[in-house]
Amino acid sequence: MTELLRIKPHHLLDIIRDFGAGVVHQPHPYGHAVHRIARIVKEHPETVFELTAGADSICAPCRNLVESRCTDTTTSPGREVSKESWNRTIDGRIFERLGLAEGEKISALEFCRLASLRLGDLFTLYAEVEQSKTSLRRENLERGLKEYLERANPGKR
Ligand code: SF4
Repeated sequence: MTELLRIKPHHLLDIIRDFGAGVVHQPHPYGHAVHRIARIVKEHPETVFELTAGADSICAPCRNLVESRCTDTTTSPGREVSKESWNRTIDGRIFERLGLAEGEKISALEFCRLASLRLGDLFTLYAEVEQSKTSLRRENLERGLKEYLERANPGKR
């Protein structure tokens, strides 16, 4: 594959969490490309992504992306906020925990290895989010990471 794919760290973690939950990604009414990127992540773990806190290859076709910024909102932190701002907060924390930075290139598999080792406590990563939601996220993300790493590299983590 010659196309340079960009991804926000939290988007990659969300895809792996969804794998752990048994979700099969389908095209979304927003028009974003999560289903396409999830398929690449699943079928080609060696695929290299450029990490970004801005618009990525999932956002590119999304109807909410205007002048490279997300115009959507989210209630993830318990009140309605700009999704652009919320995403940057979470991605900043993930970059810090994993020792990665915007512009770095890393395979989906290596990213997951790092996440498995260094992501740490999700309740502080998602400090503003309702704890029951984070509990479910943790359960599915742990399962997703374990299965992904096992499948890509049987016997090793
Ligand atoms: S533009 Fe916003 S809503 Fe669309 S995929 Fe990106 S983060 Fe999600």
